[in-house]
Amino acid sequence: MDPSLFSRYLLRSIEAHERWTRSRSPYVPDSSLEVDEDRIAAAFDELMHRLGECYPFFHPSYIGQMLKPPHPAAMLAYFAAMQINPNNHALDGGPATSTMEKEAVADIGRMFGYDAPLGHLTGGGTVANLEALWVAREIHPDKRVVFSDQAHYTHRRMCDLIGLKYMEIPSDASGRMDIDSLRNALYSEEIGTIVATVGTTGLGAVDPVHSIVAIAEEFGCRVHADAAYGGFYTLLARGEACLLDPVPFRAIPSCDSIVIDPHKHGLQPYGCGCVLFRDPSVGMIYHHDSPYTYFTSNDLHLGEISLECSRAGASAAALWFSLRCFPLERESGLGPILRGCREAAITWADLIRTSTELYIVTEPMLDIVTWFPRPVTMSACGISLVSEKMFEHAMRAPAPKFLSKFRIPTAKLQMRYPEIRPDAEDTTVLRSVLMKPEHRSHISTFHSELEELARVISSECDQ
Ligand SMILES: *Cc1c(COP(=O)(O)O)cnc(C)c1O
Repeated sequence: MDPSLFSRYLLRSIEAHERWTRSRSPYVPDSSLEVDEDRIAAAFDELMHRLGECYPFFHPSYIGQMLKPPHPAAMLAYFAAMQINPNNHALDGGPATSTMEKEAVADIGRMFGYDAPLGHLTGGGTVANLEALWVAREIHPDKRVVFSDQAHYTHRRMCDLIGLKYMEIPSDASGRMDIDSLRNALYSEEIGTIVATVGTTGLGAVDPVHSIVAIAEEFGCRVHADAAYGGFYTLLARGEACLLDPVPFRAIPSCDSIVIDPHKHGLQPYGCGCVLFRDPSVGMIYHHDSPYTYFTSNDLHLGEISLECSRAGASAAALWFSLRCFPLERESGLGPILRGCREAAITWADLIRTSTELYIVTEPMLDIVTWFPRPVTMSACGISLVSEKMFEHAMRAPAPKFLSKFRIPTAKLQMRYPEIRPDAEDTTVLRSVLMKPEHRSHISTFHSELEELARVISSECDQ
């Protein structure tokens, strides 16, 4: 978005807000709220200085964690609504933004082929998953929930929190839930819910949702899809020539609940997760009353179907507005943004596969590429050492690259590279999240630069 367009509309939102506040009888803000300009100026300078210490998340050379700035469209709507500060807990606190939330959530539901789901936004994916796990516990109180050993770490913590028994299912060499192991678990344990991860946080692996859904039907279990990271990739799984394996994505509509993080691939600032339930009658489980709220309307207050109380109406406004600008479509809107990310990952994986300096850990299923530089000896310690060095060197290179590290069981790495000596239980490799479409046009250059750096590092290690 052109910066002048952004500032023009930002100014318009400030003016609109001023007009809105002037539409009521005039009043004088209390003098206790005043702050003098010197203080503002000094604090502002310090703020800008401190913020400058962040890594450049916006830049294509930042291929580290799952981080990027929100789209300016989202910031604009967030700011416009934040001036009012609606609370989407209840229609009392956020009538306009609650409606926007319902519309945006319905859009996301339609993307997954849910007809009339029950759903709402949350502070993030963790709380959204907590709600799905809690509903799973209410429906099958004495049965276990299972997820793969690559599932997000918060599942274990949330299960402990709500006293839900769980079990981990081993994953295969690509980081997907192993279906034979799942089947064995189902024969030996009472399992109520299977969590399928659509885009694991480490390797970006997509569990075989289609197989999981079929087995769940056979055993009478529920399926929850944790699509916090990969959910929006469902857009690319439509039609022909998908750029990714569409089969698991096409089974998502058969899952009982879905979590997706608009603050990851949905262009939003942090504070925007989403949980959806296919069967709206699970709303009964949330049943409660509030002595303070739910008064202005008999319509559904979002607080009546969520575990959190206060939530920023501005988050809903930002998502709603972003979906107006970038509809959930394959060929326009959000689709082409995701395509850029996916193509960057495919291009890079192709380059690494034929490289003598870099090695791929597993074929990327989405936009996360895991790799390591050529070690002096093919051992877990050797790989960890060159990966650590690469991480440090890349950040200090003349054209810096910001990478992230990932610890993987050495046994998993040996499935692809049987020659690795397992002199440590875990091996550190590098993990690159290509979640910006600009990576596509930069990745070949980055690859050459990282290869060059790998050469330097191996000759250093050799000596
Ligand atoms: C990021 C992520 C989560 C946690 O979501 P937050 O928004 O960070 O709370 C859960 N599951 C998966 C697969 C994720 O990628």
